Amino acid sequence: MSEKKKKIVKSIKVDVDKCNGCRACEVACSAFHASPKYSSNNPGRSRVRVIHEPLKNIFVPVFAGEYTEAECAGRDKYVIDGKEYDECAFCRASCPSRDLFKEPDSGLPLKCDMCESEPPLEEPLCVQWCLADALTYEEREEEVEEEEEEEQMEDIELGLESLVDKYGFDKIVDAVARLAESKKGEISK
Ligand code: SF4
Ligand code: SF4
Repeated sequence: MSEKKKKIVKSIKVDVDKCNGCRACEVACSAFHASPKYSSNNPGRSRVRVIHEPLKNIFVPVFAGEYTEAECAGRDKYVIDGKEYDECAFCRASCPSRDLFKEPDSGLPLKCDMCESEPPLEEPLCVQWCLADALTYEEREEEVEEEEEEEQMEDIELGLESLVDKYGFDKIVDAVARLAESKKGEISK
């Protein structure tokens, strides 16, 4: 029988009514994930994108979720206040049928990692920079099966496999070695 263990579940509550479309969240996220950190910003590299409906001036922040190799077999339509949105508008997946949540140069999938870093941030950067208070960071403790950690490793392996398929093994090994060197430099500063 698998053991239960405590896990901190992090989430960001989105209050769409407060979002004014300033896109500070996109800028902050892309700067945080630039290499080196804060060296550039490009909303195309952000893990949160703000969907806009111009007629009613509605803004909906959508956070990048899982990478998927296959497109959905069926799609969902959303009608909000009488306006019909694109079938994929609020989907969080990085998937083959669109460019959203893909690194613009390499096409690699982007996923919100809650700004995991060492030392950890008090709150994710997009939340800190949302001056309209549309984003609220929340944490709660949950009991989970230990197997969940194995699932996370499977996700990482799937991501690595797709990188190797796209770029070849040697290039990925080189990129990981360079990344490790730059991280070592950041830690020793
Ligand atoms: S920073 Fe806040 S108000 Fe501005 S676009 Fe992002 S979620 Fe909306
Ligand atoms: S939590 Fe961090 S990684 Fe996720 S969208 Fe916000 S800034 Fe980007």
